[in-house]
Amino acid sequence: MPQPILVRNQKYFAPNVILPPKIDLLEHYPSPENVHDPLKRPIRDLRISLIDRCNFRCRYCMPKEVFTPAYNYLASDKILSFNQIIRLCKIFIGLGVQKIRLTGGEPLLRKGIEELIDQLAKLSTQSGKALDITLTTNGSLLAKMAKSLKSAGLTRVTVSLDALDNTSFQSITDSHYPVERILEGIHQAQAEGLGPIKINMVVKRGTNEDQIIPMANYFRQRGMILRFIEFMDVGNSNGWNISQVVPSREILATLQTHWVLKPLDAHYVGETAKRWGYVNAEGNLDPLAGEVGFISSITEAFCDDCNRIRLSPDGVLYLCLFASTGYDISEWLQPNPTIGDDLISKYIAHIWQQRLDQYSKTRINALKQHPIEFFQKPKIEMSSIGG
Ligand code: SF4
Repeated sequence: MPQPILVRNQKYFAPNVILPPKIDLLEHYPSPENVHDPLKRPIRDLRISLIDRCNFRCRYCMPKEVFTPAYNYLASDKILSFNQIIRLCKIFIGLGVQKIRLTGGEPLLRKGIEELIDQLAKLSTQSGKALDITLTTNGSLLAKMAKSLKSAGLTRVTVSLDALDNTSFQSITDSHYPVERILEGIHQAQAEGLGPIKINMVVKRGTNEDQIIPMANYFRQRGMILRFIEFMDVGNSNGWNISQVVPSREILATLQTHWVLKPLDAHYVGETAKRWGYVNAEGNLDPLAGEVGFISSITEAFCDDCNRIRLSPDGVLYLCLFASTGYDISEWLQPNPTIGDDLISKYIAHIWQQRLDQYSKTRINALKQHPIEFFQKPKIEMSSIGG
């Protein structure tokens, strides 16, 4: 298993972080045009983690035994300012980004987030279209913030919710938070027009399979989109084991004992979820019943058209959710006349053009052939780069 380093007497798994090259080297890099990685994947989706802290301790992401008060959280002076984030977003739009997802930890814990969204909403894509600004939250603060997020310019919201049953919910999140408050937040967001609301449910064998039908029924009746996520070996701390994974095909079979479903086309290339719609008694798609989705990183990897790049709160770029290497550009975001946006853009394009990441695809084979070695490398924690 990955070798921890000791910080403040707390074990901590550190991915390898690469610092940028000397400027004079960069000056010779070609100006980025039509940037693609060697697998012909463009950069379309930038995921920005605004904070590495959260008010929940979900077992599959930030288990409390590891993420204790003594954990090596980022110091506030290490966290990028909104101006630095906006500067980077403009550079990424120049490289092809069309969608920005705000994540964490829990992004709504970041003070003044509406201010950032307001600035982002003023940006548009290379083709002049409105930027798609979305956010993934645990929903705990959504009821009171939905209105201000919408008026700031947020387009849509995704809420992580893994159970309707309060006891299960509180055991999964290791919190005393009533699930009703999360549902209240979801309905408030819907009422404020932050839809179509997506709900992400991580299904873990032995933990919440019994919640699959109640969750599907609840959100079907409200025309919302429920996505089932296979339990993933993100980070180094959630004790992942393949036996705890409930394959998407098994979840679909469970749903089909109650409803007729049919596959739907993807909205765009690189969409992570496989979409399925509910069929009514007449055999037609029921537009009022919302839909379900399957995010099957373990059994049906979707790396072939992965166009996502991730930014940690302290300015390190990661090319994959399961990355063991990051590219620290924080230094370049400090006020420095010699580091212009063009140089940063060249460097990011250069990194992307070397990108061969296909962790989920390789995992499938690794699990068959040589699992131990494959899981050796310390990976970045999901709470530092968002899902
Ligand atoms: S495993 Fe990495 S490369 Fe594959 S889809 Fe996920 S983020 Fe993309």
